[in-house]
Amino acid sequence: MTQTITVIRGDGIGPEIMDATLHVLDTMDVGLQYEFADAGLVALEKHGELLPQATMDSIRKNRIALKSPLTTPVGEGFSSINVELRKRFDLYANVRPAKSFPNTKSRFPTGVDLITVRENTEGAYIGEGQTVSEDGEVAMLTQKVTRRGSERIVRYAFDLARKTGRKKVTVVHKANILKSTSGLFLKTARAVATEYPDIECNEMIVDNTCMQLVMRPEQFDIIVTTNLFGDIISDLCAGLVGGLGLAPGANIGTDAAIFEAVHGTAPDIAGQGKANPCALLLGAAQMLDHLGQPEKASRLRAAIIATLEAKDSLTPDLGGSGNTMSFAKAIAGRI
Ligand code: ATP
Repeated sequence: MTQTITVIRGDGIGPEIMDATLHVLDTMDVGLQYEFADAGLVALEKHGELLPQATMDSIRKNRIALKSPLTTPVGEGFSSINVELRKRFDLYANVRPAKSFPNTKSRFPTGVDLITVRENTEGAYIGEGQTVSEDGEVAMLTQKVTRRGSERIVRYAFDLARKTGRKKVTVVHKANILKSTSGLFLKTARAVATEYPDIECNEMIVDNTCMQLVMRPEQFDIIVTTNLFGDIISDLCAGLVGGLGLAPGANIGTDAAIFEAVHGTAPDIAGQGKANPCALLLGAAQMLDHLGQPEKASRLRAAIIATLEAKDSLTPDLGGSGNTMSFAKAIAGRI
């Protein structure tokens, strides 16, 4: 069966890493067809808007998008196109795996294999009730957490544990201080956890979680948490395993899912063939899992690991002298 996905090549290094990723996917028998759509600076130049209706329609129709990084120019209406996409498609789960890889400049070349599941639609980042007093002395912000929002993200985390054979979900919170918002999240998480007796559930306060992640990251399997904590923790986890060049992410909702690299457009190296395609390739592996092709996803991850182990055609950020496409070809050759 063929599945059509929306492909957004993006800005900066986006087109380079997307071409590399599609080259690898094309060597696998994954039954994908690509519908290309524009967003970001390239869309603004071609169509006069950052997020054209045709792109929205394409994602709505195909329900799956693979997206490169986008530039959101200052003063063009959105604070961020990525945040706008999350809002418009109610992409409530931000799913960020962090795994140790060989031959990366990593603090933990082995032992880390965890996934952060971050609530994407509530909490401090939604911008509700933002005010600054006239004299500029006092700023306020409303943080909203709902039982429904908490329940669906925690359920997502437990279902993901079952689907991927993981054994433990850690609920990260600050309910001792943020008694209302974090309190509601924790209470809801406890109730959901009772429905999953086969999965161990533990609770951890966010500041302790940061310390534990740096000291003993191997104790974590799946972390589920609210928006702001998840944002910070997922970047911390990327830092544990070699930085943004290896960090993929998925934004998942009921009606659509968008898979991406976590890093930005890297304008400093754009157009030079220096970009590491691994983050987007790992995002593509998440997409294959989501599409019900876990064995293909595993093959792709194994080929990336084998290429890193062989130090074959690695990009300069990994200490190699290869380029984006030669690295991708080395990975494709191992599939
Ligand atoms: P943006 O404004 O889009 O966020 P940025 O340059 O501020 O772009 P990133 O794109 O995340 O932020 O880049 C941060 C640093 O990491 C840059 O020096 C960039 O070159 C490097 N970098 C990011 N992604 C990659 C990649 N895939 N391969 C190699 N280096 C990368």
